[in-house]
Amino acid sequence: IITFDKVVKTYGDHTVLDQLSFQINKGEKVTIIGPSGSGKSTVLRILMTLEGIDGGVVYVGGEPLWHERGPNGLEPAGEAHLHHMRGQLGMVFQQFNLFPHMTVLRNITEAPVKVLGLSKAEARERADELLELVGLSEHARKYPHQLSGGQQQRVGIARALAMRPSILLFDEPTSALDPELVGEVLNVIGRLAEEHDLTMLLVTHEMRFAREISDRVLFFDRGRIVEEGSPERLFTAPSQERTREFLKTTL
Ligand code: ATP
Ligand code: MG
Repeated sequence: IITFDKVVKTYGDHTVLDQLSFQINKGEKVTIIGPSGSGKSTVLRILMTLEGIDGGVVYVGGEPLWHERGPNGLEPAGEAHLHHMRGQLGMVFQQFNLFPHMTVLRNITEAPVKVLGLSKAEARERADELLELVGLSEHARKYPHQLSGGQQQRVGIARALAMRPSILLFDEPTSALDPELVGEVLNVIGRLAEEHDLTMLLVTHEMRFAREISDRVLFFDRGRIVEEGSPERLFTAPSQERTREFLKTTL
């Protein structure tokens, strides 16, 4: 459902993604690990079309993301194509990124109404179900600043799900949280991981959790995949020295 084909991303003369290629299948739960600056967030930001690319092609659901198929092969994508492609993806950010001046409910219903054209009642119904899923039904009328970090992040997850994405991206969803609040957020993500149709791409430093929920782990270093494999294999018997070194620093 996602393919990176020799993707290059540069900032000035700094190559952040270096001919990066990988594939993720529909319904797969994949964790990206790797040192700071290795390009993990950049991959997610490219998928959300928050960043462009300087080479290669990204495909989502078989369609090129940053390009459209035209009479002369792949051409730069227009706004309509990007809009259509964005609709398939949802993202949960490290810093929650909730709208501070909107209630929890409004944070969740805003995009479905504005972007998908749902009626307020439909959006409300969808939000109620999602609030129940993340255990926040009691807090629908509160504002983000009245919630704990863990609660805010669970709203962030509900807000992403409200758009019914087929692919959900998480960028270090628990690393801004106090340790005692990490569990409640991981619980919700773990439950989502049981959904067979939902494809999940998760950047995290929570190695135990990654091991529990992922089908596959990608280890990034300097904009390349050094090693990939099942969590059982990669965490217990990494084949690359670089992976071994990295895992030692995270234990
Ligand atoms: P971390 O674990 O710290 O979040 P990461 O693997 O997510 O790291 P990225 O955020 O993808 O790393 O960044 C990859 C590289 O790209 C870094 O060296 C970063 O400094 C650089 N970079 C990211 N955004 C920009 C930007 N807007 N301008 C210049 N350089 C950038
Ligand atoms: Mg990052």
